[in-house]
Amino acid sequence: MRNVLLIISGPSGVGKGTIVKELVKSGKYSLSVSCTTRKARPGEVDGREYFFISREKFQQMIDSDGFIEYNNHFGNYYGTPRGFVEERLKTNDVILEIEVNGALQVKTKHPEAILIMILPPDKNELRARLVGRNTESEDKIEERLQRMDYEVSLEDKYDYIVINDDLQTAVNNVEQIIEREKGADI
Ligand code: ADP
Ligand code: 5GP
Repeated sequence: MRNVLLIISGPSGVGKGTIVKELVKSGKYSLSVSCTTRKARPGEVDGREYFFISREKFQQMIDSDGFIEYNNHFGNYYGTPRGFVEERLKTNDVILEIEVNGALQVKTKHPEAILIMILPPDKNELRARLVGRNTESEDKIEERLQRMDYEVSLEDKYDYIVINDDLQTAVNNVEQIIEREKGADI
Protein backbone atom coordinates (compact mmCIF):
# COMPACT_ATOMS: atom_id res chain seq x y z
CA MET A 1 0.00 0.00 0.00
CA ARG A 2 1.38 3.42 -0.88
CA ASN A 3 0.87 6.66 1.03
CA VAL A 4 -1.31 9.02 -0.97
CA LEU A 5 -1.25 12.77 -1.41
CA LEU A 6 -4.92 13.70 -1.61
CA ILE A 7 -6.02 17.11 -2.81
CA ILE A 8 -9.55 18.27 -2.09
CA SER A 9 -10.92 21.31 -3.95
CA GLY A 10 -14.33 22.76 -4.72
CA PRO A 11 -16.34 25.96 -4.50
CA SER A 12 -16.30 27.96 -1.29
CA GLY A 13 -19.09 26.77 1.02
CA VAL A 14 -19.51 23.33 -0.59
CA GLY A 15 -18.41 21.60 2.60
CA LYS A 16 -14.72 20.81 2.00
CA GLY A 17 -13.71 21.80 5.53
CA THR A 18 -16.56 19.78 7.02
CA ILE A 19 -15.67 16.67 5.01
CA VAL A 20 -11.96 16.96 5.80
CA LYS A 21 -12.70 17.34 9.52
CA GLU A 22 -14.65 14.05 9.40
CA LEU A 23 -11.83 12.29 7.54
CA VAL A 24 -9.18 13.49 10.00
CA LYS A 25 -11.32 12.39 12.97
CA SER A 26 -10.71 8.78 11.95
CA GLY A 27 -7.01 9.32 12.82
CA LYS A 28 -5.97 7.71 9.53
CA TYR A 29 -4.93 10.84 7.63
CA SER A 30 -2.68 13.87 8.21
CA LEU A 31 -4.03 17.27 7.25
CA SER A 32 -1.62 19.89 5.95
CA VAL A 33 -2.16 23.29 7.60
CA SER A 34 -1.70 26.08 5.05
CA CYS A 35 -0.27 29.56 5.52
CA THR A 36 -2.48 32.51 4.67
CA THR A 37 -2.34 36.29 4.77
CA ARG A 38 -6.11 36.55 5.37
CA LYS A 39 -7.40 37.50 8.81
CA ALA A 40 -8.60 34.74 11.14
CA ARG A 41 -12.38 34.35 11.39
CA PRO A 42 -13.95 34.21 14.84
CA GLY A 43 -13.22 30.77 16.30
CA GLU A 44 -10.23 30.06 14.05
CA VAL A 45 -6.99 29.26 15.85
CA ASP A 46 -3.49 30.03 14.54
CA GLY A 47 -1.78 26.74 13.66
CA ARG A 48 -5.07 24.79 13.55
CA GLU A 49 -7.14 26.15 10.60
CA TYR A 50 -4.18 28.07 9.15
CA PHE A 51 -0.90 29.68 10.05
CA PHE A 52 -1.99 33.32 9.86
CA ILE A 53 1.09 35.21 8.69
CA SER A 54 1.97 38.66 7.31
CA ARG A 55 2.47 39.42 3.62
CA GLU A 56 6.20 39.94 4.36
CA LYS A 57 6.59 36.55 6.03
CA PHE A 58 4.68 34.95 3.14
CA GLN A 59 7.09 36.53 0.65
CA GLN A 60 10.08 35.25 2.65
CA MET A 61 8.66 31.73 2.42
CA ILE A 62 8.17 32.09 -1.35
CA ASP A 63 11.77 33.30 -1.70
CA SER A 64 13.14 30.37 0.30
CA ASP A 65 11.09 27.83 -1.77
CA GLY A 66 9.08 27.03 1.36
CA PHE A 67 5.83 26.29 -0.49
CA ILE A 68 4.85 23.34 -2.68
CA GLU A 69 2.33 25.71 -4.23
CA TYR A 70 0.77 29.07 -3.46
CA ASN A 71 -1.86 31.33 -4.95
CA ASN A 72 -3.54 34.69 -4.52
CA HIS A 73 -7.20 33.92 -3.95
CA PHE A 74 -9.96 36.47 -3.18
CA GLY A 75 -7.24 39.07 -2.50
CA ASN A 76 -5.20 37.02 -0.02
CA TYR A 77 -2.29 34.63 -0.36
CA TYR A 78 -2.60 30.97 0.54
CA GLY A 79 0.23 28.41 0.39
CA THR A 80 1.07 24.82 1.31
CA PRO A 81 4.25 24.54 3.42
CA ARG A 82 6.63 22.10 1.76
CA GLY A 83 8.37 20.68 4.85
CA PHE A 84 5.34 19.17 6.58
CA VAL A 85 3.93 17.52 3.44
CA GLU A 86 7.19 15.97 2.26
CA GLU A 87 8.12 14.65 5.72
CA ARG A 88 4.65 13.35 6.60
CA LEU A 89 4.16 11.57 3.26
CA LYS A 90 6.98 9.20 4.22
CA THR A 91 4.76 7.65 6.89
CA ASN A 92 1.16 8.80 6.29
CA ASP A 93 -1.53 9.71 3.80
CA VAL A 94 -1.66 13.50 3.55
CA ILE A 95 -4.67 15.67 2.69
CA LEU A 96 -4.46 19.17 1.21
CA GLU A 97 -7.63 21.28 1.07
CA ILE A 98 -6.72 23.90 -1.54
CA GLU A 99 -8.26 25.78 -4.46
CA VAL A 100 -8.01 24.66 -8.09
CA ASN A 101 -4.99 26.67 -9.32
CA GLY A 102 -2.86 25.48 -6.41
CA ALA A 103 -4.12 21.92 -6.89
CA LEU A 104 -3.04 21.89 -10.53
CA GLN A 105 0.41 23.25 -9.56
CA VAL A 106 0.83 20.30 -7.16
CA LYS A 107 -0.36 17.80 -9.79
CA THR A 108 2.34 19.07 -12.19
CA LYS A 109 5.06 18.43 -9.63
CA HIS A 110 3.48 15.30 -8.10
CA PRO A 111 1.58 13.50 -10.88
CA GLU A 112 0.75 10.68 -8.44
CA ALA A 113 -1.37 13.08 -6.32
CA ILE A 114 -5.09 12.32 -6.34
CA LEU A 115 -7.37 15.25 -7.13
CA ILE A 116 -10.94 15.21 -5.82
CA MET A 117 -13.40 17.97 -6.59
CA ILE A 118 -16.32 18.35 -4.20
CA LEU A 119 -19.45 19.84 -5.80
CA PRO A 120 -22.81 20.87 -4.33
CA PRO A 121 -26.12 19.29 -5.45
CA ASP A 122 -26.88 22.71 -7.06
CA LYS A 123 -25.95 26.40 -6.87
CA ASN A 124 -28.92 27.36 -4.66
CA GLU A 125 -27.79 24.88 -2.05
CA LEU A 126 -24.27 26.34 -2.25
CA ARG A 127 -25.64 29.83 -1.64
CA ALA A 128 -27.70 28.54 1.29
CA ARG A 129 -24.60 26.97 2.86
CA LEU A 130 -22.52 30.13 2.42
CA VAL A 131 -25.31 32.25 3.94
CA GLY A 132 -25.85 29.69 6.71
CA ARG A 133 -22.15 29.63 7.60
CA ASN A 134 -22.46 33.34 8.35
CA THR A 135 -18.77 34.15 7.87
CA GLU A 136 -18.90 36.34 4.73
CA SER A 137 -20.68 39.56 3.78
CA GLU A 138 -23.25 39.52 0.93
CA ASP A 139 -20.74 40.81 -1.69
CA LYS A 140 -18.09 38.29 -0.58
CA ILE A 141 -20.72 35.55 -1.00
CA GLU A 142 -21.49 36.75 -4.57
CA GLU A 143 -17.75 36.77 -5.37
CA ARG A 144 -17.42 33.20 -4.13
CA LEU A 145 -20.52 32.02 -6.06
CA GLN A 146 -19.19 33.55 -9.27
CA ARG A 147 -15.93 31.70 -8.82
CA MET A 148 -17.81 28.38 -8.84
CA ASP A 149 -18.20 28.42 -12.65
CA TYR A 150 -14.44 28.74 -13.09
CA GLU A 151 -13.75 25.89 -10.68
CA VAL A 152 -16.33 23.63 -12.36
CA SER A 153 -14.78 24.42 -15.76
CA LEU A 154 -11.64 22.60 -14.53
CA GLU A 155 -13.42 19.47 -13.39
CA ASP A 156 -11.97 17.43 -16.28
CA LYS A 157 -8.51 17.88 -14.77
CA TYR A 158 -9.67 16.19 -11.57
CA ASP A 159 -9.45 12.45 -10.97
CA TYR A 160 -12.76 12.24 -9.08
CA ILE A 161 -15.91 14.31 -8.54
CA VAL A 162 -17.84 13.81 -5.29
CA ILE A 163 -21.22 15.48 -4.74
CA ASN A 164 -21.70 16.67 -1.17
CA ASP A 165 -25.45 16.23 -0.75
CA ASP A 166 -25.69 13.93 2.26
CA LEU A 167 -22.54 14.58 4.32
CA GLN A 168 -21.91 11.03 5.50
CA THR A 169 -22.31 9.64 1.98
CA ALA A 170 -19.77 12.17 0.67
CA VAL A 171 -17.30 11.29 3.45
CA ASN A 172 -17.72 7.57 2.73
CA ASN A 173 -17.16 8.15 -0.99
CA VAL A 174 -13.91 10.02 -0.36
CA GLU A 175 -12.70 7.29 2.02
CA GLN A 176 -13.45 4.62 -0.58
CA ILE A 177 -11.47 6.55 -3.18
CA ILE A 178 -8.48 6.80 -0.83
CA GLU A 179 -8.57 3.10 0.03
CA ARG A 180 -8.81 2.12 -3.65
CA GLU A 181 -5.93 4.44 -4.61
CA LYS A 182 -3.74 3.18 -1.78
CA GLY A 183 -3.92 -0.28 -3.26
CA ALA A 184 -3.37 0.81 -6.86
CA ASP A 185 -0.09 0.17 -8.73
CA ILE A 186 1.36 3.42 -10.08
P1 ADP B 1 -15.94 25.00 2.59
O1 ADP B 1 -14.83 24.51 3.50
O2 ADP B 1 -16.05 24.22 1.33
O3 ADP B 1 -15.89 26.47 2.33
P2 ADP B 1 -17.64 24.41 4.92
O4 ADP B 1 -17.12 23.08 5.31
O5 ADP B 1 -17.28 25.60 5.75
O6 ADP B 1 -17.32 24.73 3.37
O7 ADP B 1 -19.24 24.27 4.85
C1 ADP B 1 -20.09 25.39 4.56
C2 ADP B 1 -21.38 25.25 5.36
O8 ADP B 1 -22.15 24.16 4.84
C3 ADP B 1 -21.13 24.97 6.84
O9 ADP B 1 -22.05 25.72 7.61
C4 ADP B 1 -21.39 23.45 6.94
O10 ADP B 1 -21.86 23.10 8.23
C5 ADP B 1 -22.47 23.24 5.87
N1 ADP B 1 -22.43 21.87 5.27
C6 ADP B 1 -21.36 21.14 4.92
N2 ADP B 1 -21.71 19.95 4.35
C7 ADP B 1 -23.07 19.95 4.33
C8 ADP B 1 -24.06 19.01 3.86
N3 ADP B 1 -23.73 17.83 3.29
N4 ADP B 1 -25.36 19.33 3.98
C9 ADP B 1 -25.72 20.53 4.54
N5 ADP B 1 -24.85 21.47 5.02
C10 ADP B 1 -23.53 21.19 4.90
P1 5GP C 1 -11.04 30.24 3.13
O1 5GP C 1 -10.54 31.67 3.13
O2 5GP C 1 -12.53 30.16 2.93
O3 5GP C 1 -10.54 29.45 4.31
O4 5GP C 1 -10.39 29.52 1.86
C1 5GP C 1 -10.53 30.07 0.58
C2 5GP C 1 -9.97 29.10 -0.44
O5 5GP C 1 -8.55 28.96 -0.28
C3 5GP C 1 -10.54 27.68 -0.33
O6 5GP C 1 -10.93 27.28 -1.66
C4 5GP C 1 -9.38 26.85 0.15
O7 5GP C 1 -9.45 25.53 -0.35
C5 5GP C 1 -8.20 27.59 -0.45
N1 5GP C 1 -6.94 27.30 0.22
C6 5GP C 1 -6.71 27.06 1.52
N2 5GP C 1 -5.41 26.81 1.75
C7 5GP C 1 -4.79 26.89 0.55
C8 5GP C 1 -3.43 26.70 0.11
O8 5GP C 1 -2.51 26.41 0.88
N3 5GP C 1 -3.18 26.88 -1.21
C9 5GP C 1 -4.15 27.21 -2.10
N4 5GP C 1 -3.79 27.32 -3.38
N5 5GP C 1 -5.43 27.37 -1.74
C10 5GP C 1 -5.75 27.21 -0.43
